[in-house]
Amino acid sequence: MTDRYDVVVAGGGPAGSAAAWQAVRNGARVLLCDKAEFPRDKPCGDGLTPRAVSYLQKMGLGDEVARFHRLNRATIFSPSEWELSFPNRPGMPDHGHGIRRTQLDTMLIDHAASAGADVRQGEEVVGAVTDEDGRVTGITLKGGEQVRADAVIAADGAYSPVKRSLKLDSRYHGYSAIAIRAEMSAVRPDSDSLDIHLKISHRGDQLPGYGWVFPLGDGRVNVGLGYVNSYRHWKQINAAELLGQFMATLPPDWELPPVGALQKSKALQGWRLPMGFTAWPPWRPGVLFAGDAMGAARPVSGAGISKALQSGLAAGECAVAALANGGPTDFTHYEQAVNATWGREYRRGRMFHRLVGVPALTTAGLTVLDKVAHPRFRARLLFWENTLSGS
Ligand SMILES: Cc1cc2nc3c(=O)[nH]c(=O)nc-3n(C[C@H](O)[C@H](O)[C@H](O)COP(=O)(O)OP(=O)(O)OC[C@H]3O[C@@H](n4cnc5c(N)ncnc54)[C@H](O)[C@@H]3O)c2cc1C
Repeated sequence: MTDRYDVVVAGGGPAGSAAAWQAVRNGARVLLCDKAEFPRDKPCGDGLTPRAVSYLQKMGLGDEVARFHRLNRATIFSPSEWELSFPNRPGMPDHGHGIRRTQLDTMLIDHAASAGADVRQGEEVVGAVTDEDGRVTGITLKGGEQVRADAVIAADGAYSPVKRSLKLDSRYHGYSAIAIRAEMSAVRPDSDSLDIHLKISHRGDQLPGYGWVFPLGDGRVNVGLGYVNSYRHWKQINAAELLGQFMATLPPDWELPPVGALQKSKALQGWRLPMGFTAWPPWRPGVLFAGDAMGAARPVSGAGISKALQSGLAAGECAVAALANGGPTDFTHYEQAVNATWGREYRRGRMFHRLVGVPALTTAGLTVLDKVAHPRFRARLLFWENTLSGS
């Protein structure tokens, strides 16, 4: 191993592994550091959208992903029950998968290593190294070691220590969700549907969020819920209690465990989910942000794996292109790429995020959704096509 790299990636989740894989493929010497030893878990619904599957296919992981539990549709409870199929788009799969993050993320970090990235697990990044002009020139590890690089890709998740060490502000700071989930057994046939329950409330207020039951196969399900922080009283919500209330609405013959037992066994885990570009612009001299570190999750649905993969791949490519053509002080190309593909959708998404925080508006929207039984209208109202499979 050398102690100087073209690109150092902090964090080996979907964003970091995709970034490292792409940068290596584009000819860079790459180091990827993650504080965890894999397999490691990450609180998640474990639902892969068709778009996420398409990125894994592009990375050559199509066959591996196809082995996991297949999802062909979504069932919405608003509270009446209706179905949505995944949009059929040329060149895109028409299905998703349920995959535990222990398995998905290990597969991805191994893939980056097989491509040629140096991977150091159990290696915590404590912050960025900067030069006298403030340009990021490397990272500092927990033991004090510094690793120099022409470009650093910060893919270190929702709490991004690299971002915090740089004390960055963002134009879109503050858009986020809180989500909680647990994996458990359910006495029911394995389903091929992502079940999404829109009626969740706190002290009579309709919440801007949803509960879910995502099947993983072999009688196992991931059950959880999330809500965005534009709701005025979001800090007063006890997420575990709310999950217990939600689980009590699910069929009793599924024999789901009590939420207290899930808490005791540590199966229940909550996490923050930044969304709508909470690091914008998504670069500073010497550093690019990807995945949750950039707030890449969709403001409407919270789906973040596809966006972590997409932004990771783009960051890996743009970092190497910039290094070959002008150097590490200007990654405008990355900002342009992200903005061109998602800018418009995320502008709408941030507006949606603010509006749904008003319980009266959300209640009215849900009433319309529940009453108007036109599938195309419903799909549009839920931003379904853009959310799961669109640009
Ligand atoms: C409860 C919940 C449910 C969700 N459900 C879904 C879903 O069903 N489908 C979906 O698409 N999205 C879902 N999301 C969003 C999705 O989980 C994230 O958007 C996605 O994990 C982002 O990937 P990432 O690579 O950016 O970050 P992460 O997956 O968080 O990876 C970051 C990596 O950085 C490492 N790291 C952190 N700090 C350091 C450090 N100091 N040094 C070195 N390494 C470090 C971590 O160990 C980790 O491996 C959910 C989120 C939550 C909270």
